[in-house]
Amino acid sequence: MIVTLKPAVADSELAAVKDRLNNLGCRLTEVRTQRGHYLIAGIHGEPDLRVIGALPGVLDVHRVSDAYKLVSRKWKAVPTTINLGDGVEITEGGLALIAGPCSIESREQMQAIITHLQQEGLRIMRGGAFKPRTSPYAFRGLRTEGLKLSHELARAAGIKLVSEVLSAEQIELMYDYVDIYQVGTRNSQNFELLLELGKVDKPVLLKRGMSSTLDELLQSAEYVFANGNEALILCERGIRTFEPAYRNTLDLNAIPALKEKSHLPVIVDPSHGVGVRRWVESLALAGIMAGADGVMYEVAPEPERALSDGQQTLCFPESSELIKKARQTFELRQRF
Ligand code: PEP
Ligand code: MN
Repeated sequence: MIVTLKPAVADSELAAVKDRLNNLGCRLTEVRTQRGHYLIAGIHGEPDLRVIGALPGVLDVHRVSDAYKLVSRKWKAVPTTINLGDGVEITEGGLALIAGPCSIESREQMQAIITHLQQEGLRIMRGGAFKPRTSPYAFRGLRTEGLKLSHELARAAGIKLVSEVLSAEQIELMYDYVDIYQVGTRNSQNFELLLELGKVDKPVLLKRGMSSTLDELLQSAEYVFANGNEALILCERGIRTFEPAYRNTLDLNAIPALKEKSHLPVIVDPSHGVGVRRWVESLALAGIMAGADGVMYEVAPEPERALSDGQQTLCFPESSELIKKARQTFELRQRF
């Protein structure tokens, strides 16, 4: 059960609501986020919700049978909009295009990408500075230096930056330079990291674990929300299957399913989802038709020379083509 409290709930009222729920045998978790104040009550049986709803200080009460509560659409009918400032947002029913390199490699590379994004009217750039690499000998990113230079260039161009955080210690290091923290597939169930991101007042883009079910992804999102941060974006990025013909299997089914289960925006990452440059565009468009609220993909000036994921990174003309077709596809979807 989710009990939403009024913004101005008095301490005495809150104590009375808690007493009432405790007397019903509820296990209580109090959640305060940027946007709201809630009590999550684990309960057996069928308490009369009207009685709780009528207590002073209570805004409303919902029964949510899912294991995840606060990220469930059963509770919140209004979709969540992630407002990044300066008129940039990621929202249900919109089309947020997020593009950039797999790894931030140099100032020249980032400036070239920013110029490309500006020409195409994109407002959000991706770029990894702390890279999770399978081999310890591979390029692992420019780290804070990379973030600093990307932030400086992106700010000057009015572009927002999303970058992956690998550990709780990096949250603070990254804070001044990113607009969105990305949690990658390998950390999708790193609960300690998720708890710490709950304490941050910047949005979190949470990727699906490569072998996570949708409910596991939503439970991970719940960790962040329940610890205070409700600015969340979900990302389908492909799962591991028995098929070796491509890097991952982009699970397009996940898009309508997640949107039905949750009020959070859902975006698609066709680059990691398929891992083959020439198929990225089709899957981006398929993701939009499946209902994605945005697409995040990899682009670089010279993909063949990229230090990571060059095989799935688009060059500028390919990216321009994708953007044009993505907008056309989005328009088509809106006409349905
Ligand atoms: C990335 O976006 O750079 C990345 C490493 O993605 P994933 O976690 O989906 O593999
Ligand atoms: Mn990559």
